[in-house]
Amino acid sequence: MSTGGAGYKSQQATAAYERARETFLRFANRSDDDIAIICRNTTEAINLLAYRLDLQPTDVVLTSVVEHHANLLPWGRVAIRRYIECGRGGTFGLDAVIAGLEQAPRPKLLAVTGASNVTGWLLSLQEIIAAAHERGVQVAVDAAQLAPHRPMPGEADFISFSGHKMYAPFGAGVLIGPRSAFEKGDPFLAGGGAVDLVDLDEVAWTEPPEREEAGSPNVVGAVALGAAIDEFLRLGWEAIIAREVGLAGRLRSALEGIEGVGLLGPDPDTPMLPVVCFTLNDLPPGLIAARLSAEFAIGVRHGCFCAHPYLTRLLGLSGDDVERFRREVLSGDRSNIPGAVRASACLSTRPENIDRLADALAVIADDKPAPVEYLQDANTGDYYPAAGALAWSDSTRGLGAGCSRG
Ligand code: PLP
Repeated sequence: MSTGGAGYKSQQATAAYERARETFLRFANRSDDDIAIICRNTTEAINLLAYRLDLQPTDVVLTSVVEHHANLLPWGRVAIRRYIECGRGGTFGLDAVIAGLEQAPRPKLLAVTGASNVTGWLLSLQEIIAAAHERGVQVAVDAAQLAPHRPMPGEADFISFSGHKMYAPFGAGVLIGPRSAFEKGDPFLAGGGAVDLVDLDEVAWTEPPEREEAGSPNVVGAVALGAAIDEFLRLGWEAIIAREVGLAGRLRSALEGIEGVGLLGPDPDTPMLPVVCFTLNDLPPGLIAARLSAEFAIGVRHGCFCAHPYLTRLLGLSGDDVERFRREVLSGDRSNIPGAVRASACLSTRPENIDRLADALAVIADDKPAPVEYLQDANTGDYYPAAGALAWSDSTRGLGAGCSRG
């Protein structure tokens, strides 16, 4: 399939790609003045935005310690970051946001997540965005975790999300913002498709969004994400939220009932997605995740979920702890790396799946020895059953599961 050609198949592909673009804008509650730039994922979307906002090295971007690395690192390259701190429960209030907005020098942008990928905390986005706008500050919302669970905040200036978090394949993501923000200046990626004309010493960039989409587009990824979003819209937010609120309550109370489980994050009255982040006795999170998978066929995430500053706070690590882990990791030893386990429910989760997780955790919490021996790969920090299938026991992997992705 290709876009941009005169042939019938090309025409069909282009039309499908553009229909997907319209779906993204509708899904994000955007107006005709906005564009959807189709990219690889949220990380690319935020890097693109950071490049395109034309920030000066002395400009301040206000962000928070709750963020995924994707919404922390790109801003550090182009501006000074100011952080909204969180309390031990992993949340912050509107007053902390306002303090950050009002501190001199005034920030040029507030870059904030819509929901935490670690604790599932749902931020009060409407209030936060209104506070920023009242003070003349634009807002970029990282909606990677929010998008499959709650409606998008149409008031945000910029918004980004990833297909793979929304039941679509890996490889397609979206950045949405006002067309005017992308009409001037060089695009993040330079190349074919982004231009009106090129000579050896001249380039005339084309109009956005194509200006920001140099290279062959991921047509299949965009169309698949559009199809996934059509399904969200067909189900409707009311039904999705009702189901997920039920799952969130069940998940939380199931885990609260297990001795040894330490839930990290906000107290139960805080609005949260069906996500729980926890520790279990003093067991390494990697071992819990490996046992859940190998013995119970339950998939969870473990580690720091690409949110190291947030995990440090949720786990209450001291400066000395952090320094020790830092030294060990830099020397290639991840065997003591701190972290937690995260279990997430989604539209396809059934209540009995949660009960199975709780039963499994109760078995693991019990002091009885595991039915098989587990070995740790110090290089990645991951555990695997000693007698496991080949894919398990491959300890030559360079990248561990614990920290690799959010
Ligand atoms: N932001 C949040 C809140 C996330 O949960 C993730 C991924 O898990 C990202 C950003 C990065 O998304 P991606 O890896 O698709 O770029």
